Amino acid sequence: MNKTKRYPANIVFSYLILSSLWVLFSDLAVESLSNDLQEHALAQTVKGLVFIILTSALLWVMVRKNNRDLESANDLDSVTGLHSPSVFYRYLNKRLKKSQASDHYVLFLLDIDNFKSVADQIGFENTNLFLKDIARSIELPIEHQPLSSRVHSDGFACLVKLDDKEDIESYIALVHRRFNQCAYRYDINATCCIGAALFPSDGNNAKQLMASAIHALTEAKKSKNTIEFHDPKLTELERQRQEMVQELRKAIDDKAIDIVFQPKFNIESRLVAGVEVLSRWTHERYGVVSPDIFVALAEENHFCRDLTTLVLEKTASQLRANGLLGNELNSVSVNISAVELNSVDDMNHLDEYLRKDPEFARLLCLEITETAILKDIDQCAIAVQTLKKQGVSFSIDDFGVGYTSFGIFSKLDVDEIKVDRSYINGLEDDYRSRAITSGIIDIARGFGINVVAEGVENAQQLSILKTLNCEQAQGYYLGYPMSSKQLKVSLTPEKEPCSTT
Ligand code: C2E
Ligand code: CA
Ligand code: CA
Repeated sequence: MNKTKRYPANIVFSYLILSSLWVLFSDLAVESLSNDLQEHALAQTVKGLVFIILTSALLWVMVRKNNRDLESANDLDSVTGLHSPSVFYRYLNKRLKKSQASDHYVLFLLDIDNFKSVADQIGFENTNLFLKDIARSIELPIEHQPLSSRVHSDGFACLVKLDDKEDIESYIALVHRRFNQCAYRYDINATCCIGAALFPSDGNNAKQLMASAIHALTEAKKSKNTIEFHDPKLTELERQRQEMVQELRKAIDDKAIDIVFQPKFNIESRLVAGVEVLSRWTHERYGVVSPDIFVALAEENHFCRDLTTLVLEKTASQLRANGLLGNELNSVSVNISAVELNSVDDMNHLDEYLRKDPEFARLLCLEITETAILKDIDQCAIAVQTLKKQGVSFSIDDFGVGYTSFGIFSKLDVDEIKVDRSYINGLEDDYRSRAITSGIIDIARGFGINVVAEGVENAQQLSILKTLNCEQAQGYYLGYPMSSKQLKVSLTPEKEPCSTT
């Protein structure tokens, strides 16, 4: 029975029981009280009144419960589980009224561009899952105490507390990145616009702040995939970020991203065990841009596949040109982003690309970071197995930080892990880093997985790693990232293996 029928049925049933009991026992009670007719009549009147009071109280309790249930059902959006707009606005008011003078909040409105085409691409049920995922991702990280709502079919509002008002730009960029990652996971061409306003500078109460955020969103919606802040200075920073995205696209298309090679050493033999390829982007105006910045931009803007293809192309051609492929070098590691592993299309593309160069595929090791964001782990495992058939091996990068865990070994058939350099940094002085590194090495060895310590910067760290039975090491102490020509020189037999530039 559904709720609309159950509630009245409950009320009628309770009334039936109460009144039947009353009919059965109340007259007996009255009669046992007195035989006097006058007293009897009075008792009957009182009895009637008591019945009315009792049934009224019962009705009141049940109707009130029903109303409360209905109210709380309306408080939450059934698709995303977020607050309804009216509740959101009530809490927004409360939160801002209670805020301290030093508090900073950002209110942002996120609106999906061309929502109808999203629904057409993935269907009704997946659209609801997609909206739920967006809701979940804008509610992170939890320490920002997010308060959010789906304000209309494809629009979200969220208030978050910032430690510092300067964080607003990077926070909104993070929200944008999360949205793009969600879209990427569902393999859809969806973009969004965000309008953001800062409390108290753009509005010192809920009404003003909301008006500022709406104004910013209206400006953003004049084009697609845009972020606008109510404060024009912040909008300018965002414009610069977008410009950098265009420049990165151009650099990838013009093959202007360079690569360098950092050797990995076998600790016992001190011989080069392989190289890791790292991307480099030097722009005429920005100068050297760190891969941490441009790889994140590539992830946000779905350029990863093209970046990886370019890196693979350049790696194979430079190593071949220097006669290193398969001769001095038996393992070449290339970094790929976890968002690529999430995409069936990207992995098929990679598989096809490598089929054209089987000699290179056999030597290739793909390093993956941020495995926690892998969406469909079974699907990723299939992609891994497909590439393994070509001889490609897999490594989990930055192991031990973020949400990496040993659980990944049972899900993905990995060949190697790289212990994050934050642990290697602490090896000499911090017993916890040493214990964690030792634990990781022992467990990985138990699984038959090769362990590489990354970021080794001095002899002491290297000798501790040796005592911990770590197989391989990489870091500035052993070799800086270098060009293919320098690599060739450092690999010539008469050179000392560890004396790289
Ligand atoms: P990663 O994969 O952990 O790469 C190692 C990073 O640590 C490199 O920074 C390297 O230069 C640096 N490093 C190596 N030895 C030492 C050391 O002894 N001490 C210290 N402090 N640092 C050391 P880089 O080149 O700036 O790369 C940063 C990250 O960007 C890489 O971290 C990787 O995750 C990503 N990345 C670089 N190239 C690519 C690429 O082509 N594709 C993708 N998807 N990601 C890339
Ligand atoms: Ca790496
Ligand atoms: Ca790493």
